Amino acid sequence: AEKIRMRTPLVEMDGDEMTRVIWKQIKDILLEPYIDLKTEYYDLGLKHRDETEDRVTVEAAQAIEKFGVGVKCATITPNADRVKEYELNQMWKSPNGTIRAILDGTVFRTPILVKGITPLVPAWKKPITVARHAYGDVYRNVEMAAAAGSKAELVITDAAGNEERMTIHEFQSSGIVQGIHNLDESISNFAHSCFRFALGERKDIWFSTKDTISKTYDHRFKDIFQEIFQKDYEEKFKKAGITYFYTLIDDAVARVIRSEGGFIWACKNYDGDVMSDLVATAFGSLAMMTSVLVSPKGVYEYEAAHGTVQRHYYRHLKGEKTSTNPLATLFAWTGALKKRGELDGISELSDFAEKLELASIRTVESGTMTGDLSGISTLQKKKTVDTETFLDAVRRTMDQL
Ligand code: NAD
Repeated sequence: AEKIRMRTPLVEMDGDEMTRVIWKQIKDILLEPYIDLKTEYYDLGLKHRDETEDRVTVEAAQAIEKFGVGVKCATITPNADRVKEYELNQMWKSPNGTIRAILDGTVFRTPILVKGITPLVPAWKKPITVARHAYGDVYRNVEMAAAAGSKAELVITDAAGNEERMTIHEFQSSGIVQGIHNLDESISNFAHSCFRFALGERKDIWFSTKDTISKTYDHRFKDIFQEIFQKDYEEKFKKAGITYFYTLIDDAVARVIRSEGGFIWACKNYDGDVMSDLVATAFGSLAMMTSVLVSPKGVYEYEAAHGTVQRHYYRHLKGEKTSTNPLATLFAWTGALKKRGELDGISELSDFAEKLELASIRTVESGTMTGDLSGISTLQKKKTVDTETFLDAVRRTMDQL
């Protein structure tokens, strides 16, 4: 058969260790035989980031801004050990952090569900996507210890030098104080990303804060979301048959646990940090968690939520076959291809990506899977295979669809 043609290239960001090995296998076995794959290739492998003084990461982010859709392999965020291991000139920053700072986006994490891997919350039947605001609050805090007898005040000095002042606490005994902030612009961008993503996925979106207690700070989040929703999205949501729902964080957690899933849950920075790990764990496996960065500029970056699976890589270097789960990385590709197809109006491309996702799920559900899944799957008949054998099985399943 003729290969599917693409119009606009995907921004392809290669990465490190085991996921770099899987990256190539996915392309060789499942993509290039079917698609005339067009990509703008950026090698974000640690060695090349070091050689380019990390310019390659910035260039990749700029390319995503230009072309609209990127797909990224997991990359090493260097620490002291890695500086030695790779003889780095510098302890380069996290590529994800650099890309996020340029695109100013929101990260949405969604689990891949398969029969046999049962969520720890019995009511959950459909994936829950957690959207985490990625700026400010406690992650940009300042904090101090306060001695007994001291007084802590909140002071804002405006551009003209006028002071507004509030007592935080008069300390009879010693204690602690913290200052946090956020920005209207960042909250607005977060809201746009959330509503835009909900429309794209045709899923309801929930947003929760603690505005009953935090009457100015959290309340601002609620107001900005409401304003933007009414102004730009209410009509579109009606047409798409989806809803926006605001509730208190404590009410939200109760509803989430009782729900059957199938919606997006937008969270403030700290709530999102905690809840995305909780939701990921309850759905079963980090290796089955996908992630997409949605920028308010209308561009998208897809990746797996997990890292480079370092332990498996050292085994791979010794010549052993590893049973590393390629699904989250594969779904990063299919997510990006679907979006590219949608933006360019190439339905063959989107259809292919969906078929590939279906084939992957069917393969696992028919009992062929990687070790991380066979360890927790409740299927009666299951076979643990190495990564390449798994990808070959997906290909055979797809060819029969
Ligand atoms: P990791 O996600 O690579 O591994 C964590 C644990 O989950 C390991 O026990 C691993 O065996 C298991 N696991 C994860 N993905 C798996 C898969 N696909 N199949 C089977 N098992 C899987 O995280 P780590 O070990 O903490 O970090 C390794 C490297 O990855 C670090 O250098 C870190 O900087 C980097 N990292 C990158 C990203 C990213 O690029 N988005 C995210 C997290 C970590």
